[in-house]
Amino acid sequence: MLKKSLRTPGPAELPLEILQAAGTQMVAPRGDEVFAQTLKEVVAWAQEVFETKNEILLFSATGTGGMESSIANTISPGDKILVCVNGEFGARFAIIAGNFGAQIEKIEDAWGEPLDVAKVQKRLAEDKGREIKAVLVIHNETSTGILNPIDDLGEIVAKHGALLIVDGVSSIGSTEFRADRWHVDIGITASQKGLMCPPGLNVISVSEKAWKAVEKAKSPRYYWDYRLARGLLGKTLGLPDSQLPGIPITPSISLIFTLHKALEMLRREGLDNVYERHRRVARAMRAGAKEIGLKLIAPESFASPTVTVISLPESLSGDEARNFLHQRFNVDVARGHKKFANNVIRVGHLGYVDLPDIITVLAGLEALLYEMELMPKTLLGKGVAAAQVAYFHE
Ligand code: PLP
Repeated sequence: MLKKSLRTPGPAELPLEILQAAGTQMVAPRGDEVFAQTLKEVVAWAQEVFETKNEILLFSATGTGGMESSIANTISPGDKILVCVNGEFGARFAIIAGNFGAQIEKIEDAWGEPLDVAKVQKRLAEDKGREIKAVLVIHNETSTGILNPIDDLGEIVAKHGALLIVDGVSSIGSTEFRADRWHVDIGITASQKGLMCPPGLNVISVSEKAWKAVEKAKSPRYYWDYRLARGLLGKTLGLPDSQLPGIPITPSISLIFTLHKALEMLRREGLDNVYERHRRVARAMRAGAKEIGLKLIAPESFASPTVTVISLPESLSGDEARNFLHQRFNVDVARGHKKFANNVIRVGHLGYVDLPDIITVLAGLEALLYEMELMPKTLLGKGVAAAQVAYFHE
């Protein structure tokens, strides 16, 4: 009987405490004192994770819904926007904005390369008439395992005046996300990754500058309307309850209880410790994979702390590798996207994760390469050893 190990980059395995929180009895969302206190803490603790004073909104949806809501609330048909694309999720952001009638201009970098901030800088400098309304970017491009340099980008976009909308779906909660320092106007994440919850809940930060755009935007919206959500869950307006617009939409009560528990756990560990743990696990994963001859898509200096994307030897398909890991080690890793569909696997290490979790993946990969005679026999055990060294030593 093999213990199951879910090593996809979300949904990710859940700690027992979170599973228990998911079993909490329903409450009346309007008026229950425990729930009101829970919401208050969720908002305050999420602000710590996002490093922001901005308002926090919660929506019942997965990450893609969060991306769509950011467009529906700030972009009007015909608006010019820049979308940074260096992987699947950047491409998705461009499609969503295009479907809302925006004039899309892509700033493209190759899959496996980090975003080239200088290109965005140049394009914004050319925009003398300030026609570009927003810059859309993915913080952690989960399809390639690249952590894009949002810190450098933020200042540039703020100087121009466009909105900066950042998808932090696979980064927030697992690595630093400094919404205020980086001038992030809308930051988006979802529950099923670094936040260690089941899928289905968005957490979104909205700056004052973004609220002004929300008022002006002409895209139709009801469910996604940030103005309704503002009174619904944010409760950070400082208004007395009697003046809040009320709760028009039923909140995902169970997911909110799980998020409350997850944020409590992250605070208990200390956010800096959480981020350091992710960095060490990712470093170990990369070192182990390289030691047994596997190639990594991301250059070391932009490698993601939450997902490692591995290029397999030519004669080995991604599906063969995933099937072997599943059947022989009961480890589930993810497929490559689009141009990486054939011989790439993606290993998730985010949220409830530490060294033993990736040791299992590396042991499985070693066994696979060993049995298929795709590595020298003497390398058996060496990937695991290299991972241990990388984890414990700098
Ligand atoms: N953005 C990023 C960076 C992601 O990694 C994902 C999912 O993996 C999404 C958006 C889409 O999220 P969802 O599948 O929850 O809709």
